[in-house]
Amino acid sequence: MNPQARAPLKPLDEALADLLAQATPLAGTDTVNTFDADGRVLAQAATSPLQVPPSDNSSMDGYAVRCADVPASGVELLVSQRIPAGSFGTPLAAGTAARIFTGAPVPAGADAIVMQEDCEALDGERVRVNAVPAPGQWIRRAGEDITLGAQVLAAGTRLTPAELGLAASIGLGRLQVARRPRVALFSTGDELVMPGDVPPAQMKPGAIYNSNRFFLRAMLLRLGCEVSDLGIVPDRREATVAALRQAASGHDLILTSGGVSVGEEDHIKPAVESLGRLDLWQIAMKPGKPFAYGQIAHGSGSAHFMGLPGNPVSSFVTFGLLVRPFVLRLQGVRDVAPKAIAATAGFDWPRADKRREFLRVRQGVDGTLELFANQSSGVLTSAAWADGVVDNPAGQTIARGDRVRFLPFAELLS
Ligand code: AMP
Ligand code: MG
Repeated sequence: MNPQARAPLKPLDEALADLLAQATPLAGTDTVNTFDADGRVLAQAATSPLQVPPSDNSSMDGYAVRCADVPASGVELLVSQRIPAGSFGTPLAAGTAARIFTGAPVPAGADAIVMQEDCEALDGERVRVNAVPAPGQWIRRAGEDITLGAQVLAAGTRLTPAELGLAASIGLGRLQVARRPRVALFSTGDELVMPGDVPPAQMKPGAIYNSNRFFLRAMLLRLGCEVSDLGIVPDRREATVAALRQAASGHDLILTSGGVSVGEEDHIKPAVESLGRLDLWQIAMKPGKPFAYGQIAHGSGSAHFMGLPGNPVSSFVTFGLLVRPFVLRLQGVRDVAPKAIAATAGFDWPRADKRREFLRVRQGVDGTLELFANQSSGVLTSAAWADGVVDNPAGQTIARGDRVRFLPFAELLS
């Protein structure tokens, strides 16, 4: 009898905690141009050497005035200077206005901007102000975005386009980021054929195309990894050992799919154990369940090993819930657990499962979740159709209208 069949299932949260306990951030950083840092993880906190904006400036095209000079609508003032963005004016004399443009520094003495729509330029020299300004209006204050010395970005921040702009706004043209994890990827299974190698009409009975290789590679690349794609390893013990041994040197992580059950054709467990150590877990999740974590020794160090289940949707979901947080933590990201949001089920799920389920759903424009009809772990169509999963606790049924935990794919895949 299968010795694993009766082993108690491991809660997913415990599996994640055990994995993260092994995910020591990698030593070494890269210094990259800020342009090229999207998706990378900041290795050092960024502190601002200046305030942003650097000085009080106008948020409108118009006239800088002293409010005391404009007690009523219709006041006429001498235009004493012109301040376009990029230039710096002189203190504003009482009884005068400065022509000013968006982004230009507000001259000393001025305490409001009147937008040009509320003004009338007269004879070139004077302006009629047709509105009573409130003190401070249309002025962006110095330092209102960033104060001098403020920590703008914490170490361990995964950079997004907004953060690249923010880093640039404090003068950072280059950023020190965590080095990319080096990941060796291979698929196991004698049934697997690469698309392009054999046309569909000539596929032998029993053969299927290797789909996991494509999404696993793509997800690793999105997470900032360098991927060595080692192809398909046949279902033989020696071939598996040889592939793992080769992959262990020069990689931080070896990721495989398939072969992690304990059938006669599942060679991952004995192969990894012959080169290091391995924990084979039965995780209380669906899709998913079999998952392996181990370490393979090489030289003076060791490479992490993770074995995902072969069923495509199981592979896809366990990647998002377990491999993604691990790979981010290797780069120094602290907050790695995906964040669920509350959403309303637009479907019934009348049969509770013993395992925590991750149901493929799609969010409608009103936020209600629609369920993909076939939730089988082999049906990859469900993952392509969906834009997230419902994280449904073990033993829980769902009725239309119930509030559920929704995990958007952005939290699992990107
Ligand atoms: P295994 O975990 O090796 O027992 O595989 C479980 C199921 O997933 C089997 O139906 C396999 O044919 C399928 N499978 C395994 N690896 C892949 C892959 N790379 N692409 C598509 N299906 C796979
Ligand atoms: Mg297999």
